[in-house]
Amino acid sequence: MTDIIASASNLPPEIARRRTFAIISHPDAGKTTLTEKFLLFGGAIQMAGQVRAKGEARRTRSDFMQMEKDRGISVSASAMSFDFGPYRFNLVDTPGHSDFSEDTYRTLTAVDAAVMVIDGAKGIESQTQKLFEVCRMRDLPILTFCNKMDRESRETFDIIDEIQENLAIDVCPASWPIGSGRDFLGCYDLLQDRLELMDRADRNKVAESIEINGLDDPQLAQHVPAELLEKLREEIEMARALLPAFDHQAMLDGTMTPIWFGSAINSFGVKELMNGIAKFGPEPQPQAASPRAVHPEEKKVTGFVFKVQANMDPKHRDRVAFVRLASGHFKRGMKLTHVRTKKPMAISNPVLFLASDRELAEEAWAGDIIGIPNHGQLRIGDTLTEGEVIRATGIPSFAPELLQGVRSGDPLKGKHLEKALMQFAEEGAAKVFKPAFGSGFIVGVVGALQFEVLASRIELEYGLPVRFEPSQFTSARWATGGKAAIEKFEAANKQHIAHDHDGDIVFLTRLQWDIDRIGRDYPDVTLTATKEMM
Ligand code: GDP
Repeated sequence: MTDIIASASNLPPEIARRRTFAIISHPDAGKTTLTEKFLLFGGAIQMAGQVRAKGEARRTRSDFMQMEKDRGISVSASAMSFDFGPYRFNLVDTPGHSDFSEDTYRTLTAVDAAVMVIDGAKGIESQTQKLFEVCRMRDLPILTFCNKMDRESRETFDIIDEIQENLAIDVCPASWPIGSGRDFLGCYDLLQDRLELMDRADRNKVAESIEINGLDDPQLAQHVPAELLEKLREEIEMARALLPAFDHQAMLDGTMTPIWFGSAINSFGVKELMNGIAKFGPEPQPQAASPRAVHPEEKKVTGFVFKVQANMDPKHRDRVAFVRLASGHFKRGMKLTHVRTKKPMAISNPVLFLASDRELAEEAWAGDIIGIPNHGQLRIGDTLTEGEVIRATGIPSFAPELLQGVRSGDPLKGKHLEKALMQFAEEGAAKVFKPAFGSGFIVGVVGALQFEVLASRIELEYGLPVRFEPSQFTSARWATGGKAAIEKFEAANKQHIAHDHDGDIVFLTRLQWDIDRIGRDYPDVTLTATKEMM
């Protein structure tokens, strides 16, 4: 089988068999359930329910996680690797809540494709739309799974129309549902001419699959009641006339999405979706970088940090940098160059995330996500290479939309607070600004919930109760320009100046008017709402 993958690709077989993707969805559409079924069919777990069970065991360990559980959100992304036939799937989990969009954005820079899960009764929801827009910015290929077909759902054409209209993407049905709600029988697989029948008795059983010789095959009538069959034939005829045929290149370009219908909880349609990911990919793609793009088949190893997570294991005060390998064949113990500091780093205990366990990674290939435990050397946007000076591009940092001051409940622990804040800034969990005037810090986030998460993490991880309070500022902009222009600008606007954790200059204000004024008064200074993380 690996030969088949290799013959269709110009990449070395070990790389060509990798599929690195994320699942995007609105909360409750079924992402967790689908992930679990992926792992089940990937042989990574024995029984559905394990991921959740383990998740819960872990969650009860801390209040912070308790909060995550109470709110039904997942705050941090993790990566899971498992095999599916001859393929290696790397599934990168994205946080589902809108408050964590920046983290999600960065996660999506580390994948080659996204699976969009929608609820068949609800269609495109707000968070689906937002996440889709992020995928679009990067032209990520998207495969769609329409879930919960075992419940009353919308008409198939309505679902497809809604996706085409709201997301402006061509939709090609890969399967077609037969009946809905209580009468949902299964799907006709349009790509392989098969009938897939759902087993309602056993949720973990894979559907019965019957090879069908086209829609006129008399076998169909043995399995599908006459009226449903008539409707199916009519609808498919209409679909073939009205909807675009599957075009692999268009999918890879991100202008067409194939859609599968199914029911994750009943394990239905999941295998077909996985086959779709395996077959249509894509395989690991080149990574945008400066001064040149990095190609997966390059012999030398290059990797980019897209996420840093602190204190994953409360017993060890460690941080794990999540690295997407962009090229080469990585082996444990390798010495790589940390490009930002130009220092060598021996990667002696990298981890792979298999299901919900961590495992030492003896080797990894372009496309894989490895975790590198470290004590703060690795930051988001950092590059590891075998010596060449390359920097990942396209990993943005957004200006926060909410700003608050922060005060420690224990005034003697100012240094602790600073340390905690710097850690979160490096992790990308918040922006931390030190105003040039006065003392204290201003913390910026994208969504209000993040303040609560930060407060409980600072208390939990640093034993430091803190209070967030309103700040006189509401907007932050990074200021860049020539040295003389910046100095003049800084001197005249001291009340508004702060520095972020990288030491870059930030202009704080509560008025758009101020931002416009700077534009007029200092034509050589640029204020921006994003900065690329390097
Ligand atoms: P997430 O928030 O997107 O991760 O969604 P979950 O996977 O937690 O699912 C949300 C709810 O929908 C849970 O109660 C699931 O049991 C349920 N669910 C998931 N898939 C299906 C399905 O195919 N059919 C039905 N009826 N319920 C489902």
